[in-house]
Amino acid sequence: MRTAQTIRMPGQIRESNAREVLRLIRDHQPISRLSLARKTKMSTATITRVVNDLLEQKVVEEVGAAYSTRGRKPVLLRVSPGGRIAFGATVLHKKVNIGLVDLEGKLICKEQISIRSEQGPRAIFETIKEVADNLIISRNISASKILGYGFALPGFVRSGNGFVEATVSLGWEPANLKPMLEELFGRGKVYLDGLTETMAQAEYYFGSAELRTPGSSYVYFFADEGVGAALVVEGKLFRGHNYDVGDIGHIPMLSGGPICRCGNRGCLEAFVSKPAILARMSAIQRQLSEDEPWTDVSDEIFAKLIRGELREPQFQRLSEDIARELAWGMLMIIKCYDPQAIVVAGDVFKLGGDKLIERIRDNLNNWILHKHNREISIVMSQIDPSTVYAASALVYQNFFNPSLEPAAVSEEQG
Ligand SMILES: [Zn+2]
Repeated sequence: MRTAQTIRMPGQIRESNAREVLRLIRDHQPISRLSLARKTKMSTATITRVVNDLLEQKVVEEVGAAYSTRGRKPVLLRVSPGGRIAFGATVLHKKVNIGLVDLEGKLICKEQISIRSEQGPRAIFETIKEVADNLIISRNISASKILGYGFALPGFVRSGNGFVEATVSLGWEPANLKPMLEELFGRGKVYLDGLTETMAQAEYYFGSAELRTPGSSYVYFFADEGVGAALVVEGKLFRGHNYDVGDIGHIPMLSGGPICRCGNRGCLEAFVSKPAILARMSAIQRQLSEDEPWTDVSDEIFAKLIRGELREPQFQRLSEDIARELAWGMLMIIKCYDPQAIVVAGDVFKLGGDKLIERIRDNLNNWILHKHNREISIVMSQIDPSTVYAASALVYQNFFNPSLEPAAVSEEQG
């Protein structure tokens, strides 16, 4: 297959130098040209040329030019926040979150539109295109500043060619969406991935700095409507042969329990997804009071349960069970992947907060035998799934780390 990734023309080598330099500036800003030359092992002449290029394109800017008694301090470089802009859209069942994010990860504007996923992809993406154009034009942003358009969809997306195999919650037929998206948004400007995969990658660009250290590895572990995980090593998502890495919500590892939506019994998802926990709470409530069954449990009550703050011993036991079951999931993650950090996300972790994490840690401490091991940190996700950061991260990834994913390569190119 002849693609832009496999044929390296001199111009493209220059471009990859520029991206490498740009990535280093973002991670180490403000930084001098000399430090860049040291870090990249490029000659100072190359660095000067690349930096001049980036300055001219207004992607980076100079700061801190200052004189001291000992002479002139070097001019430092930083990313120019408004220099380039990423468009992101997260498509959910009934709404799409749309927005623009600058190179520093600051949200410029956002908008939510209502949709019905039954309208099908074409109609929905045409609406998104209209809103996108309005956002861009109303803010006087020139088209050349738009780095690309990132789209996150719940479901299974083969990111290389934008083939959406099964979007269970959207109810769409398997299809290759890329040609249609490129027709609407521009060739080579479209990035598409699954919501979980996108969220996991977004942590790398917008989450805690420790996730970006050289050699870093983390597992993104979420418990919300579903339960699952994704492995990210040095910013690269490890997908596996069947894109199935981290599907720990559907390993039948607990005994009994209700039948999971995958058809098995004993899946973690059937125990600790938000709907599963709500069902367990309601069952207890029915036992406690036949007259007052719960119809709708508020997030506040849900949080109290997970944190062990509901007084009834049945609820106390349930909250202990949930912490232990989540800890089992985490133990599996630790034993299989041994990551530097686990990023926890989703309503179950968010509402459970530090108290839940503390309880999970207590369980893990009883099971992990190698007490001399380096600690694996558990960090709360900093990316809200309802924002557009996740989708923007797809565009960022290609801008800063283009070698990681051939996401925007057109099949027909060459
Ligand atoms: Zn299952």
